[in-house]
Amino acid sequence: MASDQTRFLLPENEIPKQWYNIVPDLPTPPTPVLHPGTGQPVGPADLLPLFPMEIIKQEVSTDRWIDIPDPVRDAYRLFRPSPLIRARRLEKLLDTPAHIYYKYEGGSPSGSHKINTALPQAFYNKEEGTKRITTETGAGQWGTALSIACQMVGVECTVYMVKVSFAQKPHRRTLMEAFGAQVFASPTNLTNSGRKILADDPDSPGSLGIAISEAVEDAATHDDAKYALGSVLNHVLMHQTVIGQEALRQFDLAGEYPDEIYGCVGGGSNFAGLAFPFIRENLAGRTKTKIVACEPAACPTLTKGVYTFDFGDTVGNTPIVKMHTLGHNFIPPGIHAGGLRYHGAAPLLSQLVDGGHVQAVAYSQMETFEAALQFARSEGIMPAPEPAHALRGGINAALDAKAKGEKRVILIGVCGHGNFDMVAYEKYLSGELEDYAYPEEKIHQALETLPTMGLAARV
Ligand SMILES: *Cc1c(COP(=O)(O)O)cnc(C)c1O
Repeated sequence: MASDQTRFLLPENEIPKQWYNIVPDLPTPPTPVLHPGTGQPVGPADLLPLFPMEIIKQEVSTDRWIDIPDPVRDAYRLFRPSPLIRARRLEKLLDTPAHIYYKYEGGSPSGSHKINTALPQAFYNKEEGTKRITTETGAGQWGTALSIACQMVGVECTVYMVKVSFAQKPHRRTLMEAFGAQVFASPTNLTNSGRKILADDPDSPGSLGIAISEAVEDAATHDDAKYALGSVLNHVLMHQTVIGQEALRQFDLAGEYPDEIYGCVGGGSNFAGLAFPFIRENLAGRTKTKIVACEPAACPTLTKGVYTFDFGDTVGNTPIVKMHTLGHNFIPPGIHAGGLRYHGAAPLLSQLVDGGHVQAVAYSQMETFEAALQFARSEGIMPAPEPAHALRGGINAALDAKAKGEKRVILIGVCGHGNFDMVAYEKYLSGELEDYAYPEEKIHQALETLPTMGLAARV
């Protein structure tokens, strides 16, 4: 029996005590990560200049459950458990027999899910003596989350912010600085990577791949500094599984179980955080939930990319991983879902898409903004442009249920609010926003840049 409640809330003592690692439950083991210079599998020693030992251990762990340290759980209390909300007003607006639920991460201090991993990453660095953490940020959510986490644990923070976002979102920069971070518009002339890009193109708008190159180089060339990544890597996806674990419990309270789950994908972390605990149920044969990854047509990594080995960054400083990729030289157009403009996708998510356990779909910018406003005008929350993709997927499913007269239970990941995205909404409302789908031939050109080394044979 479905509950007649609207918000499903858990008490603080039900904040998960462990993160869920999907690796031991995968049908096949993950592909090794390769050294960018030698093409050989990387060992812990290769990663130590960049990450604290505990993070490296988590990155390669095959344990299903990893304990969340008490100080991290304590900080989680500021905003977790996050609510699961039945979107009754959106259901009414769509006039659908479907039950729509959303898991809302926008109420965290940083306004998105990113702080779920920023806190443990800052914590482990502090424990192992790191003085300063470097990182990149696109739309600014990750930089904000890491700035807050660094401030809380007492580590310095240097953020390389993609230049177009730096210009589009000046308040994001101020927010990071308010939390004590030092913020640079990337490409900078402070690193070899940045100087190389600027030599070719002094007006480069920057990209996430370029900013990663700069942040990695900064950490690798300074002994007291380490690097933190806000998405893509196994440990980041694992930290986010607090979202899905809570949602499973909350569906118990709701007296229902999702038939379909929609999340947006940039690198894959909020999607994995929500979906992996449900995929575990699917893989164990207990459920048959349809799991859908929603991405922008302007950066169609999972739907148009190739599943092969590629660098994580643009310049080629990072390890080579097997993932869906558009090629590391791919510079996505300046669409407004800044957090979704990455050339690759998380290896664990790529593997699940390749194995058919997760479906992928791409939506154009205009249709996602339309969905975002339907959600905002019914539920009263401005979503970030990124989860607007998940909302598009979920709303389409609810409309399909209506057309077929089916009762379905739909779960949507609303991973952040859009209160810093007013320039994008202003453009949409004034009719200035345009659709853009990445041309096929340009995708093929970008794919020509995949690393050779004999091991990058297309799969
Ligand atoms: C960073 C971000 C994303 C994209 O990153 P994922 O790792 O794919 O989750 C999506 N939405 C929001 C709100 C973000 O901050």
